[in-house]
Amino acid sequence: MLHTISGFDRIGEENAFAVLARATALSAAGKDIINLGIGQPDFRTPDHIVEAAIKALRDGHHGYTPATGLLATREAVARRTLTTTGVEISPESIVILPGGKPTMYAAIVMFGEAGAEILYPDPGFPIYRSMIEYTGATPVPVPVREENGFAFSADETLSLITDRTRLLILNSPANPTGGVTPRAEIEKLVKGLADHPDVAILSDDIYDVMTYDGEEHCSLLTFPELRDRLIVLNGWSKTWAMTGWRMGWSIWPDQLYDKIRKLAVNCWSCVNAPSQFAGIAAIDGPQDDVEAMMAAFDRRRRVVVEGLNALPGVTCATPKGAFYAFPNISGTGWKAKKLASALLEETGVALIGGPDFGILGEGYLRLSYANSEENIRQALARMDGFLRSSA
Ligand code: PLP
Repeated sequence: MLHTISGFDRIGEENAFAVLARATALSAAGKDIINLGIGQPDFRTPDHIVEAAIKALRDGHHGYTPATGLLATREAVARRTLTTTGVEISPESIVILPGGKPTMYAAIVMFGEAGAEILYPDPGFPIYRSMIEYTGATPVPVPVREENGFAFSADETLSLITDRTRLLILNSPANPTGGVTPRAEIEKLVKGLADHPDVAILSDDIYDVMTYDGEEHCSLLTFPELRDRLIVLNGWSKTWAMTGWRMGWSIWPDQLYDKIRKLAVNCWSCVNAPSQFAGIAAIDGPQDDVEAMMAAFDRRRRVVVEGLNALPGVTCATPKGAFYAFPNISGTGWKAKKLASALLEETGVALIGGPDFGILGEGYLRLSYANSEENIRQALARMDGFLRSSA
């Protein structure tokens, strides 16, 4: 009998990967699958980024880099941060990590332990809660509600802070809802946080430039009063269609920088060098592929929302960011996970049940519209047929 630490008995999962595995198995068995489950752009990484990685390999960049990342990559991130937020950040505050998730891991294990409380969005990215539980800390869900546009409510968030709260996790634009928290609400939250100076903030900004209809991501970096306790998670995965490259960055306050540097040395040493050169090309190179991808997401978003609202018993608010729709299915009479599973098995449409994103996810499905317009229309037609025949 092996005795692993109890944290591993509490660790959860991201069900999108299980759905992907099931969809792949069904597809291998000959079933026609349309995958609206996994949250990754269906575009290739732009060619000039791929070329930069190939060149780096040919140029002999085969060794370790500094644990916090190449200075040139961190400088590129600083330039990009200045462009998107107007805020100047020193490369000495930036860390390059193997994806966005490692920042989540680092921040949560830095603050989580038995007796501590960590606030996280519900519905929200499932790994927040999983990692909080792994550390033994108490996960405290912050509701993000449909009637509030799936935005954070400053008042409700602040009301959940206790003297045991160590970390508050925010995410806007959000997975799974596509919600974007408006600047006014963030300002109110920041004001209230002044009364809680011992609470650190992890802002998951992985979808920061993925907004629609003139909506804007309000960066917490624009509030200097938070800088000494703010960790910003970001990365290349979504914006430049680079999920498989495992490239992320984060911005850390001075007082935590050496801690994250040491964790990097202990856990992953560094991110592979060619990817870091690719990351520079992504930031400094032409952005037309990103713009074309966003235009495609925007078109699909409209198709998805219109199609979902036409389904019996389904309503869907228009998502303001990311590439997910989060339809309310409470009028169908189905439990969300049962419906998600039935849709996959019966119609070949892969999507995720809302409860995989939290307690408040019951009554919802998550569809990723990172798929072709044609496939999205086909999926909606299959869902329509299924819901009408099962009513
Ligand atoms: N944060 C959110 C909100 C996400 O949706 C995801 C990926 O789905 C991540 C972080 C992780 O990104 P990465 O693939 O770069 O680890």
